Amino acid sequence: MKKAMHPTERRSISVQDYIAEFGPRLDEHGKERLRIRPRCPGCSQPLSIRGEERLQYDPVFAHMPDDNPPYCPLRNQATHRYEFLHDVPLNHERGAMIRASFFQHWQQHWSQLRLLLDKFADIADFIALIQHADSVKFWSRPNLEETDIPYIFLAWKEWPPVEKTRNGRREVLRSTWIRFLFDSRVRTFDDIWIRTQGDPVIIKATYKAPQRTHSPNINHLLDTDVININRSFLDEKFPEAPPFVIKMMHHEFPRELGL
Ligand SMILES: [Zn+2]
Repeated sequence: MKKAMHPTERRSISVQDYIAEFGPRLDEHGKERLRIRPRCPGCSQPLSIRGEERLQYDPVFAHMPDDNPPYCPLRNQATHRYEFLHDVPLNHERGAMIRASFFQHWQQHWSQLRLLLDKFADIADFIALIQHADSVKFWSRPNLEETDIPYIFLAWKEWPPVEKTRNGRREVLRSTWIRFLFDSRVRTFDDIWIRTQGDPVIIKATYKAPQRTHSPNINHLLDTDVININRSFLDEKFPEAPPFVIKMMHHEFPRELGL
């Protein structure tokens, strides 16, 4: 991966920035420099740099060999999907309020989600996520905050490359496969509130689209970014959704959108 977690701060760092801050591998006497290692955003284990001597060939951070590695979502997550598994008392009154507020702000949620998908997302996926949320009574989970919603939506499904056909020609809009993961403390969505007090590390993992396998694994991993939940996006400016997106939302949710 091109970026990892900074050794002491909660942010991503590139190999180049790491070397600029902590120095190259060898000191001026040609001796191994004692450096504090960057960490994997998924499992917090120290990482090594592969290819540091050949900076022109894009060195990357890599897990260190370990016979018994701890659980790491980047290594072990290829087939795991996050769900709500804990049976907790639901708060339907609050859930109805959050859902109503979500529909009032749906364009902000959509814009936040799209932004984190490098601006290419399909409104049909957003609609399917809302319907899935309804079917599992998502809105009534006791600790849910409205600002959590786009991040949970992003982690709820895989985001394969986006293509479109124009005049009979296939056009690639986003060639990478994107997956949103939480750090290793979070195995089910409930753990966000149970094990991280609502402050999980969210990892945006970008993969090369796999040719043969069904979904990408660590061998396809290109990069990771540490995402901090934006708690103020509902108050920020956002681009208005195009007419066809608004039309589809109105068609699917006429009652919720006051039509
Ligand atoms: Zn890891």
